[in-house]
Amino acid sequence: MPFVRTVLGDIDPAELGVTYAHEHLVIAGSRTVEHYPDFRLDDVDKAIEELASAQALGLRSVVDAMPADTGRDVELLAEVSRRSGVHLVAPTGVHHQRYYPERHWSERLSIEEVTGLLVADITDGIDALDYGSPIVKRTPYQAGVIKVAGSTDGPSARDARFFEAATAAQQQTGCPILTHCENGTGALEQAALFATLGARLDHVALSHVDRIVDRGHQRELFASGVSVEYDQGFRWKDAPNGTLQLLEWAAEDGHLDQVVLGLDAARQGYWAAYGGAPGMAFLLGDFAASMRDRGLGDAEQHQLFVTNPARLYAFADA
Ligand SMILES: [Zn+2]
Repeated sequence: MPFVRTVLGDIDPAELGVTYAHEHLVIAGSRTVEHYPDFRLDDVDKAIEELASAQALGLRSVVDAMPADTGRDVELLAEVSRRSGVHLVAPTGVHHQRYYPERHWSERLSIEEVTGLLVADITDGIDALDYGSPIVKRTPYQAGVIKVAGSTDGPSARDARFFEAATAAQQQTGCPILTHCENGTGALEQAALFATLGARLDHVALSHVDRIVDRGHQRELFASGVSVEYDQGFRWKDAPNGTLQLLEWAAEDGHLDQVVLGLDAARQGYWAAYGGAPGMAFLLGDFAASMRDRGLGDAEQHQLFVTNPARLYAFADA
C-alpha cells in the first residue's frame, strides 16, 4: 500500500489533503540562525498560531525542508504536529554548503556513510541531536523526505556527493526527494544528474525554480520527468507575478500535474505570528484568489494542493 511518512507515522496519501510542499516550521539554534538570526523559528506556540491561520483556509499537511545539522529539531516538529493536528513530513538530507562549518562531517564521510545516516533517519527515526553530536539518539519520528541542495547553475562537486547519497537512500527506502535550486538556477542540471543516478524522477521535486520566468526552460524541466515546487508567489514586489505566469503556462502546456506549491517562508519576518508578512495563510488566501482570477479554479487548485503532493510525497516502491 502506498504511504506518506509523516513525523507521527505513516498515512494513506489520500489523507494528506491540502499540502504546502516546502516550508520551515522549526529552525532551532545552529550555525544557520547564528548567521541569519531572522531564520530562528523555534517557538512551538508561534508555529501552531501560524499554521492555524492556514488551517482555517483548509491546510492539512506541510512538508518541512530543514535537513540534518542546520537547526532541525524533530521533537519540536512532532510537538507542532501533535498540537496543531497538521500532518508534518520531516526531512533528512544535507543542505547547502553555507549552512555548515569547514570540515563538517558531511564532507569527511564517504557517500556510503552519508547514505547510511539518511536511511537510518528514514527507517529508524531522526536523531534527537540532529547529527550534531558524536552520540546519536534515535527518536520514534521518522523522516519522510530527503532534502539536498544545488549551487548556482547546478550541483557542485561537493553537492553531487549528496545527490548520490540521496538517490541511494531513495533506492533503499523509496523516500521522495526535495531539492534547493540556488536562486532558481541549475534545475536542468539537477534533473540530469538524478536521471544519471537512476532516481525515481516521479518522486523528485526541485524547489524555487519559479524564479526563472522562462516558458521554454520550464518545458524542458517538465520533459525531464521531475516535479517542480513553486514558492516565490509573494516575492515579486512591484514586478508582474512570475509564479502566476508560470502556473498559467504550465496549465496551457498540460503540465500542471508536475507542479506543487509552497511558500518557503523560512523567516520570522514572513510569519504573521511574529508580526511579519505575508503569513502562512497567503498561499490559500490572496494567492489562491489570484490564481482563480487567472483561470486556475477549483479543479486546478485541487490538482496543485492535493493530488500532486499525494503522488509526489508517497514513497516509491523501493
Ligand atoms: Zn527552504
